[in-house]
Amino acid sequence: MFMSLYSNSNYALRRSILVALMLLVVSNFVAVQTAQPVAASNKYCDVSEDEYYAKAVEWSVAESITGIDGNCFYPETRATRGQTAVWMWRMSGSPTGFTHIFNDVPEPTQSSAVGWMYYNGITQGTSKYTFSPAGGLTRGEFAAFLWRLEGEPAAVQHSFDDVVADWQQAPVSWLAASGITKGTSPSMFSPGDTLIRSQLITFLCGYDRQCTNSTTTTTTTTTTTVPKKTITVPPEYPSGRCVSEIPKGVYEWEGCAWNDYRDNPEFNKEVTVIDAKNLMHRIWAEVYVEQKVECCLSVELDPDSKVCGMNATGCAVYDSHNYLHIILIKNRLTVLLHETAHLLLVEHKSILDCEQDATPENEKKIRRVCRHGDIFRCVADYLYVEYAGIPSADVCGTTTTDAASDER
Ligand SMILES: [Zn+2]
Repeated sequence: MFMSLYSNSNYALRRSILVALMLLVVSNFVAVQTAQPVAASNKYCDVSEDEYYAKAVEWSVAESITGIDGNCFYPETRATRGQTAVWMWRMSGSPTGFTHIFNDVPEPTQSSAVGWMYYNGITQGTSKYTFSPAGGLTRGEFAAFLWRLEGEPAAVQHSFDDVVADWQQAPVSWLAASGITKGTSPSMFSPGDTLIRSQLITFLCGYDRQCTNSTTTTTTTTTTTVPKKTITVPPEYPSGRCVSEIPKGVYEWEGCAWNDYRDNPEFNKEVTVIDAKNLMHRIWAEVYVEQKVECCLSVELDPDSKVCGMNATGCAVYDSHNYLHIILIKNRLTVLLHETAHLLLVEHKSILDCEQDATPENEKKIRRVCRHGDIFRCVADYLYVEYAGIPSADVCGTTTTDAASDER
């Protein structure tokens, strides 16, 4: 298991440029949005009491979903995917701690919301690395978002004539059966029409029982914030079962940790790319280490990869999108967890400090020692315990100066 950071410096540079650009965007956005602050109790300029969506808008202000951040609501304006994410997220209690892999989502205004959507499988984006937050969406696409938020329940078939696409059947059926939509006419849902803001807020209001007080909806939001486990190096030096193996190398203490569990199918299992991706995102949401990079994960299974070097079983790299990227040469849970530990620590101060001492002559020290040192043992041991179900190797809290080798 070999780690390469061939584009690390590029990454830092590009990231600072990206952050600067985002700050520019955000500051412009804030300037426009707060030019004329209006108290939340005031009415929007363009929402009259007798509009069908007036009650929904009132609900959204009371629940701080839209708030009043300008004078007007713009009910006829198309809803963007980014706004839709933020409103759905606020309706669900603004849970934090989720990340996504898209490279076009503004920080910090939409990133938490889109991360939450991505983690919960509500969106897969418009491509592998894009969410297209400024783009619009159709009524059919939004039906799918809301249906996935609800957990993809089955429902009796809808009776609209214009909903024909396979992927729209279950979402629209559920939307109709739960009373959230009555369609654009008795026989039409207009799934291809662009969703506008008044429709979006009406759908969300319909989803929330407190808004409609309807007996036909039986939905509640069950998404909760995932508590994060913060991993640090404790001051104690334990004398656990695998401590004596540490000076021999990283494989030795890991081998010691695993030895009795090699036949355990849960521990020794193979992972698909989907498994790997889901588990990596789950770990990212649940585990915190100082200086953890909060963005951009990807994983691929490539048994023939030459990137990781000779005899490697996998590696962790920055890829060409500057994504933290795991290549699994062997699709083993243990390899995934080892490399995920590297990703969690990619900018950890103690590791970067350690690498400062590297010269061309002792470059291998980087891989051997710095990246498999004290904090790595803590994180890797924690991941094996939590996500592979083996007892701790008791190697967290140990210090060594020549801890590990990444080469056999
Ligand atoms: Zn390693």
